[in-house]
Amino acid sequence: MSRHSGVLYIVATPIGNLEDVSARAKRILAEVDLIAAEDTRHSRKLLAALGIRTPLQAYHNFNEHEAARRLIEALKAGRDVALIADAGTPLINDPGYRLVSAAHAEGLQVVPVPGPAALIAAFSAAGLPPTRFAFEGFAPDKHAARLKIFTALKTERRTLIFYETPQRIVHFLEDAVTVFGGMRPAALARELTKKFETIKKANLAGLLAFVQADEQQQKGEFVLLIGAAEAGTHADEQEARRVLSILLDSLGVRQAAAIAAALTGQRKNALYELALKMHNEKPPTDK
Ligand code: SAM
Repeated sequence: MSRHSGVLYIVATPIGNLEDVSARAKRILAEVDLIAAEDTRHSRKLLAALGIRTPLQAYHNFNEHEAARRLIEALKAGRDVALIADAGTPLINDPGYRLVSAAHAEGLQVVPVPGPAALIAAFSAAGLPPTRFAFEGFAPDKHAARLKIFTALKTERRTLIFYETPQRIVHFLEDAVTVFGGMRPAALARELTKKFETIKKANLAGLLAFVQADEQQQKGEFVLLIGAAEAGTHADEQEARRVLSILLDSLGVRQAAAIAAALTGQRKNALYELALKMHNEKPPTDK
């Protein structure tokens, strides 16, 4: 690395509440020669609110290649650059990867200036086991692809964290109930740090009912957290056994499984197998 090269700062900005900008982020944004921003019009408002006049350059998914090349030239010429996203931490489901990897390839210094990220804010307040998590970003748009991804993640032993949009929130939860089962522990974090912030911990069936019952809860920005398989599977089976044992007192295996599926949101086939097992385990009744 040349002694005269500039530094690339990766600066986190608020995800809603302007007070969340750090003192260091403010100082760096004011001191650098250039700010690379996803949407310059959007970022100009943030910088104006902070009283910062540093020149902006667009850096987004559609000009990433060319913009990264120009920013690397600027850094090599000794200019300090800050990268910001529209909200939160750059590169977290936002542009920047090409620039950061190119900077490393050129031996340039890359310095993170940490701050808000929706997934971390949500995880810290969700009330799910905080030891291990897997960040999945946005689930696929299409129903079939989403079911496929969920199925692949069904036995994941870490808390799953997803980003979601208002257009898809109900479909996301419907598909999650189908695959993970309605009893799987989960949490929804909506509009974090903003006026209508909602943090709701419930099982998946409960979250779906909560969102369906109130259109306000379908608006804004979302982080969805799905509890790890271990805890969830156990809770699912316990609930399935409880419901089936009541139903099997008066119904046949097939009918009990169908009703239990409707009540718990769990899969009919799995419930049928469990009902059959429970039926066969039952001691014979005295005639
Ligand atoms: N870079 C951002 C970060 O650090 O979290 C994420 C950007 S990604 C393009 C936008 C998505 O992040 C939204 O659709 C939503 O899922 C999530 N998100 C961003 N701000 C949020 C907030 N205030 N509350 C809940 N979710 C938020």
